[in-house]
Amino acid sequence: MQTEELGNRILNGDRRALARAITLVESSRADHRAEAAALLDRLRGAGRQAVRIGLSGTPGVGKSTFIEAFGMMLIGLGLRVAVLAVDPSSTRSGGSILGDKTRMERLSRERSAFIRPSPSQSHLGGVARRSREAVEVCEAAGFDVILIETVGVGQSETVVAEMSDLFVLLLAPAGGDELQGVKRGIMEMADIILVNKADGDLKPAATRTCSDYAGALRLLRKRPQDPEGFPKAMMVSAWQENGLAEAWEEMCHLVDWRRENGFWDRRRAEQALYWFDQEVRQALLARLATPAAKAAMARLSDRVAAGELAPASAAEEMLSTHLAG
Ligand code: GDP
Repeated sequence: MQTEELGNRILNGDRRALARAITLVESSRADHRAEAAALLDRLRGAGRQAVRIGLSGTPGVGKSTFIEAFGMMLIGLGLRVAVLAVDPSSTRSGGSILGDKTRMERLSRERSAFIRPSPSQSHLGGVARRSREAVEVCEAAGFDVILIETVGVGQSETVVAEMSDLFVLLLAPAGGDELQGVKRGIMEMADIILVNKADGDLKPAATRTCSDYAGALRLLRKRPQDPEGFPKAMMVSAWQENGLAEAWEEMCHLVDWRRENGFWDRRRAEQALYWFDQEVRQALLARLATPAAKAAMARLSDRVAAGELAPASAAEEMLSTHLAG
């Protein structure tokens, strides 16, 4: 299928075209990369925007239960929901696969939902690019909300925050030193903290945890992109489907406020620049990773180590020979 036709079908809401386009953006073959780039430019022209929600939480906190319940609620409101995942570890761990349809059975049967597991790549940069482009394809396909799920470990939150309009951190109730468990940097990224499992025996602990986080959030520096009262901590029970509508209301309030005050467009522009920079860096590194470049690097390294060549001259020689396309 020609890129033009594929693009038209996606814009018309054809699900098979959507799945095919995502497979295309996930491919690393050079000809597929060129097609994917043309397709994304075509789709961008349609100017459609979804609300992109990044969602992070450690395994077991209730991400898939939450996404299923939250997604079903959104569908009940007449919205179309896509779920994507960013999980650089999925190939290695063999553990729970983010975005796995069997973990969201009801949602996966809905015609207004689209669920795509994380691309299997162990390199975060590769997963990030593919997921970001999948987000763009889903957006063009007319989804209203795109949930981008990630695990609460390492660098993947940063990557997800750079492709989301708002970032939600899902936590479980716990006693004692809970606050120590969440890295400050991750807390600073959150627009909304949701303390899940606020039900049954866990309710008192959830209430305590939620007020601890609300207190901690108040201590953070006020960010210009936030309306009064944000970032905020709230309680939900994904299981009992409590607090989900309230959480969505707060998200909508945040989105509307940012749109009205120019922060929405500004953030999207900053993100585009961030990814442009990342693409340039990755392309440069790829050119230095060819067999010939690696061999030259090894030769030059020996000479630098032996003191025959200054590091700067060796670098200059490396770049002048191997950076040209
Ligand atoms: P994930 O690994 O973050 O995707 O977590 P899951 O959605 O698989 O949930 C992990 C466990 O927590 C499962 O046993 C769920 O039944 C349970 N769970 C999820 N949400 C809730 C909730 O709101 N309340 C309670 N009590 N348990 C929950």
